[in-house]
Amino acid sequence: MIRAPHPMLDGLNTPASRALLESLMTDPLLAPENLEWRERAREVADKYVRPVAWKYDRLQEYPWEVQEQLKAYGLYKVFVDKEYGGAGCSVLNLCLVVEELAKACGGIGVGFAVNALGSFPIMIGGTDEQKERFLPEVAAGNHLVAFGLSEKNAGSDAGGMACSAVKDGDQWVLNGHKKWNTNGAIAHVNTIFAVTDPESRSRRISAFVVQRPGSGEELGDIEGFRIAKVEDKMGIRAIPVVELEFDNLRLDSDRLIGGRPGVGFKHAMMTLDKARPGVAAQAVGCAQGALDLALVYATNRVQFGQPIASKQMVQQLLADGAQKVAAARQLVHAAARHVDAGTKEANKYAAMAKCFATDVAMEVTTDAVQIFGGYGFMRDYPVEKYMRDAKITQIYEGTNQVQRLVIARNLIKEASKLDHLSHYMPIPEDQR
Ligand SMILES: Cc1cc2nc3c(=O)[nH]c(=O)nc-3n(C[C@H](O)[C@H](O)[C@H](O)COP(=O)(O)OP(=O)(O)OC[C@H]3O[C@@H](n4cnc5c(N)ncnc54)[C@H](O)[C@@H]3O)c2cc1C
Repeated sequence: MIRAPHPMLDGLNTPASRALLESLMTDPLLAPENLEWRERAREVADKYVRPVAWKYDRLQEYPWEVQEQLKAYGLYKVFVDKEYGGAGCSVLNLCLVVEELAKACGGIGVGFAVNALGSFPIMIGGTDEQKERFLPEVAAGNHLVAFGLSEKNAGSDAGGMACSAVKDGDQWVLNGHKKWNTNGAIAHVNTIFAVTDPESRSRRISAFVVQRPGSGEELGDIEGFRIAKVEDKMGIRAIPVVELEFDNLRLDSDRLIGGRPGVGFKHAMMTLDKARPGVAAQAVGCAQGALDLALVYATNRVQFGQPIASKQMVQQLLADGAQKVAAARQLVHAAARHVDAGTKEANKYAAMAKCFATDVAMEVTTDAVQIFGGYGFMRDYPVEKYMRDAKITQIYEGTNQVQRLVIARNLIKEASKLDHLSHYMPIPEDQR
């Protein structure tokens, strides 16, 4: 049986604690448009996501009732260009929406964000005709999108993929599989990366749009496309993560993104730069959500005759958590602004935000469980879910080890800007 969260957590709904939480969330650096998106997402999260988060975590089923609300509130418009029915593709606004959803449920947060991940290859590299055909339905929330890059033997080394697409007349024939496809089972549009030129080092991979007829729960099968496995996961359980199998799947040539082969990997990397702040925002949401619960619990739970919030070691956990979340949030916003402005530092900032915020999420959600003591370890109460949902953020869209490689690569490239410091180094003149 699915049990409701403990009544002790009703404390979250008192005017005083709401006002306190609200004051913790104030951000004078955000413009009115940003705040509007945040408010809209917060309303959806409070009214429709939090009340069912634990139910869908237990059931491990896609929350169609929430999807209807995400659509009704127009949230899918946030990451789509205005010409195609969207609100202008601001990564900052996307991050604000994802944080609010993830604060209520990390799974639903990523279930939403992955639509942006799957749409970005079309937005970045698609022809005008492809954008016109696919994006308006995505912006309207009618079609869900998934992103298929990883394979069983090609995770961090995504370029080593084996899934292939071979030209046959005016069609492409797709064979192989994609592993860990978030939303893959319920997506109307799957962006799939495949090898089109095995001999080439730099132009080996292309991206395709694989569309399935129908939408929502009435999604139909297509010949050559199979959901080979539905994964049973530690966290983000509301969202289906599946293995896709392609067996001579025939695609018309207009499904090749951008209309020319060989640019898929470049578009995948550009997509990840654009999407990583969203994963980082998901992590900030998980961390903030767990911290909010821990704060309310600590002010209510009495031991030794006093609320545990009066104990300095508990205060330290709360204070450290608040600092880490605030720092992570600002780094996420900085990364989103770099991506939106298309600066040279966008790649580094996206990786830094993803790495930092997701490590923070793991630390803060673990400490939140600690503050709940034994109750924190129990599945009857909501806090352990935050810890489970946070873990995946350190792994997908490039593990945090890979993010550190990206950051270091950028730093080393930038080192030449610091040549003026070499005079202060114990380096012989002829080696500088
Ligand atoms: C729940 C879930 C959802 C996902 N959703 C999607 C999706 O929607 N679309 C998609 O395409 N993919 C998706 N993925 C795949 C995800 O992006 C990969 O799992 C991730 O990139 C890591 O690949 P891997 O699991 O094969 O690990 P590996 O690459 O095998 O890595 C294993 C370990 O080795 C480390 N490692 C690997 N290479 C290096 C290196 N060069 N230096 C240092 N350390 C290294 C890693 O950091 C990691 O700790 C999802 C995965 C999961 C679990």
